[in-house]
Amino acid sequence: LRTAFSRYDRAPGKSFAQTMDVLTPVSPAELEQAIKSGDIVPYFQPKVDMRTGMIKGVEALARWHHPSLGMIPPDRFIPLAEQEGLIYALTLAITEKSLAQAAAWNKRGLRLSVAINLSPRLLDSTSFVPEVSDMLDQHALPADQVVWEITESSVVANLGMALGTLARLRLKGFGLSIDDYGTGFSSMQQLARIPFTELKIDRSFVHGAHERHHLRVILQSALDMASRLDLVSVAEGIETLDDWRLLQDSGCALGQGFLIAKPMPAEELPQWLKGHHRNLRELRGAHALPR
Ligand code: C2E
Ligand code: MG
Ligand code: MG
Ligand code: MG
Repeated sequence: LRTAFSRYDRAPGKSFAQTMDVLTPVSPAELEQAIKSGDIVPYFQPKVDMRTGMIKGVEALARWHHPSLGMIPPDRFIPLAEQEGLIYALTLAITEKSLAQAAAWNKRGLRLSVAINLSPRLLDSTSFVPEVSDMLDQHALPADQVVWEITESSVVANLGMALGTLARLRLKGFGLSIDDYGTGFSSMQQLARIPFTELKIDRSFVHGAHERHHLRVILQSALDMASRLDLVSVAEGIETLDDWRLLQDSGCALGQGFLIAKPMPAEELPQWLKGHHRNLRELRGAHALPR
């Protein structure tokens, strides 16, 4: 089993450490230019069905291809984009590229849901919902193929502002996911007001939960709540076979993490899928997955 899965650790996706100089500051002007010229691109990380291992969707994660600094991870430019009023343009750029990619995959018979991360700063804008709805129509995609991820902490901090936009997105038929669930101190009363369709459990309750009782308790109660509220449950940060087994035994619907695949450029997905399907055949042979 370990051999079959170990290939996942070498899944495509480039190391930031080689290319990135964390000490070099990036300027707002550079970021603005990068958004305009298309240098901010989505990488895609697979979300798989925990029962069958089959891919169900991808999460789009922003990457900045910087001409001299190489690849810059989102932690370094998303906060800057938020501060500088660039997050709207950035999100539309990521959304446009992600929807175009989903439409291209659809044409090849690969129907994947695409999850896009939303910053709370967007949620007070009245133009966001019409703009993304137009994009959806242009790519002839059904709304239920797109899921917007909002972190639990940002929803709690901006509930009044977020509510209208989130409700409108849901009315259009988009999916809505609570990201990093378990870290945001939301109350049931707050969560119940938002028409979520998915609950994504933060990786701090996923990786290592098999050996820590209190993490397991939180994990199980989150899964229990998801099932009672009819939300699709997703575990992020599945890094080891022990993580995978625990989540599978706990009845989590979807899984995402480095064990399965790292975020990768769209072009690498077909090759990854081939290897993945080979691995799944081996796992079924070893009775680690249902046939
Ligand atoms: P997130 O939405 O919670 O995304 C998951 C992060 O965990 C990603 O980091 C992903 O690469 C990483 N990850 C996935 N599997 C594993 C695993 O098994 N172990 C570990 N340790 N990490 C794993 P990334 O790509 O660096 O993104 C960081 C955060 O930046 C995201 O967290 C999201 O909040 C934000 N972000 C990324 N792209 C966008 C975007 O287009 N717009 C906005 N507003 N935020 C974004
Ligand atoms: Mg996310
Ligand atoms: Mg997350
Ligand atoms: Mg996160």
